[in-house]
Amino acid sequence: MQAGTAKGADVLSALQLAPATSQQIEAAIQQGQAAAASQTRALPGHHLRDALMSQLEHPRWDDVAARCLACGNCTAVCPTCFCHAEADVPALDGQSSRHERVWDSCFGEAHGHLHGSNVRPDIRSRYRQWLTHKLATWHDQFGRSGCVGCGRCIAWCPVGIDLTEEVAALTAGSQP
Ligand code: SF4
Ligand code: SF4
Repeated sequence: MQAGTAKGADVLSALQLAPATSQQIEAAIQQGQAAAASQTRALPGHHLRDALMSQLEHPRWDDVAARCLACGNCTAVCPTCFCHAEADVPALDGQSSRHERVWDSCFGEAHGHLHGSNVRPDIRSRYRQWLTHKLATWHDQFGRSGCVGCGRCIAWCPVGIDLTEEVAALTAGSQP
């Protein structure tokens, strides 16, 4: 273990731990290297904004929409997704109500309802919104990609949609 901060060092100093042996250190290094070598998926570039935003009418969006169930699993497990909805919850006595913020997903049909119409009425537009926000317009909003590369959206997609495959297909031929 290594402390990254002074507070962490305080915590570590309170633990009754023996120093790691050279074999343990070597085993830890090898485990890290094996884990890194097993991770073969990758996005085709660190900065995908222009590559993706130039492909908004790519036929691959129809292809992925035909497979996507709009279940929202990918957004539920993603550590950077933050979409929410507003709800008014009336008290049972009818005297008051509470305004609440609740988790939501951009894959839900209701999430696209604005002022009497739906800005994302089909799965194609919802998947495109999710992927282009995460990997493209997040750069405009926060100065970096919205994907930390954890792979949870791949692991939890019930139909096996893999964002690295979708991005590769969408940006093939362009230079991200
Ligand atoms: S791989 Fe990227 S998009 Fe998928 S869950 Fe992790 S951070 Fe979110
Ligand atoms: S988890 Fe898969 S099927 Fe569900 S909304 Fe995400 S991409 Fe679509």
